[in-house]
Amino acid sequence: MNVPFLSFAGQNILIEKEIRAAFERVFQNKWYILGNELLAFEKQYSAYNQVEHCIGVANGLDALHIALKALNIGCGDEVIVPANTFIASWLAVSGAGATIVPVEPDIKTYNLDPDKIEAAITSKTRAIMPVHLYGQACRMDAIMRIAQKYHLSIIEDNAQAHGTLYKGKLTGSFGDINATSFYPTKNLGAFGDAGALTTGDASLARKAMLLRNYGSETKYHNEIIGVNSRLDELQAAFLSVKLKYLNSWTSERKSIAAIYDKQLAGIAGLTLPYLAPGAGHVYHLYVIRTERRNELQQHLTGMGIGTAIHYPIPCHLQKAYQHLGYKKGDFPITEHLAETSLSIPVNPGMSDEEITCVFKKIQEFHG
Ligand SMILES: *Cc1c(COP(=O)(O)O)cnc(C)c1O
Repeated sequence: MNVPFLSFAGQNILIEKEIRAAFERVFQNKWYILGNELLAFEKQYSAYNQVEHCIGVANGLDALHIALKALNIGCGDEVIVPANTFIASWLAVSGAGATIVPVEPDIKTYNLDPDKIEAAITSKTRAIMPVHLYGQACRMDAIMRIAQKYHLSIIEDNAQAHGTLYKGKLTGSFGDINATSFYPTKNLGAFGDAGALTTGDASLARKAMLLRNYGSETKYHNEIIGVNSRLDELQAAFLSVKLKYLNSWTSERKSIAAIYDKQLAGIAGLTLPYLAPGAGHVYHLYVIRTERRNELQQHLTGMGIGTAIHYPIPCHLQKAYQHLGYKKGDFPITEHLAETSLSIPVNPGMSDEEITCVFKKIQEFHG
């Protein structure tokens, strides 16, 4: 049996009629950018995320970039980012002209370790960017306390964690202004690129709204220097359909994760996802770890089971960041995670046979 790492089949079959109707609506309306579909989606998503404001943008990286711009963070400012993250976190900070200050993750949760943040703070630090990696919420109470103590802004990267709670509060609603992505493979994904900012601050919301549209609210009147990063009507219409299914798809992800948790528990040398006290997890990825990662991946590939590595090369060792002068050994926890992590399929719509096939082959590998 072949089990793909990613599959949209199970989701798409449920929503096909509604997606076609959404397309038809936009086709008939003949209005493609900054219209009622976007307004409707922004309203629905802000309600879902329990924040006052949602601003749709073209993608998740732009959302992070616009969040930094809205906070006036740029040249000469330092931003604390996870060493263990997707490259977008770093690109947003360097793209804004600010300085990346990487901090190691907690070896158990893989998320930014709050206990290591204070040592990285200087007089130039302006913000902390927690990333709720793989779908698990960061320790937001500790991070918020540090931000308050040092008067720092918080920009959450919620691209992998739509609908996750930390101690009863949704990720994407803690920070001053937060970013998310609706890249197709995310838990809430468009049929193309899309992203959004979420915030409770009306003036930051207005600034983000200007920034995404040439710095302009009234056509041909440019108040600030902006960019072109808009979430188009078609994607907004599609996202409104998919948002209605997000909670049920998240429950499916959680049930699949619970089966893996049970079936893979106690295997020597295999580390399963660890849930920190108070932290929710929406299993954007189900990441297991083993020193025999490459062997295990090869074994599963041979058996027709798709896997992926998030992420094989840490940001500080990427060629793009050579000029920062980091070398192997500078962030040992991050490097260790890159060498031992393996993501296994956790798709809504997976059949019981597929789920069983995945855990059986992993059990088999370990004898
Ligand atoms: C996907 C992702 C992004 C970037 O989103 P895009 O829409 O692809 O630009 C940023 N941060 C994290 C953690 C992501 O997973």
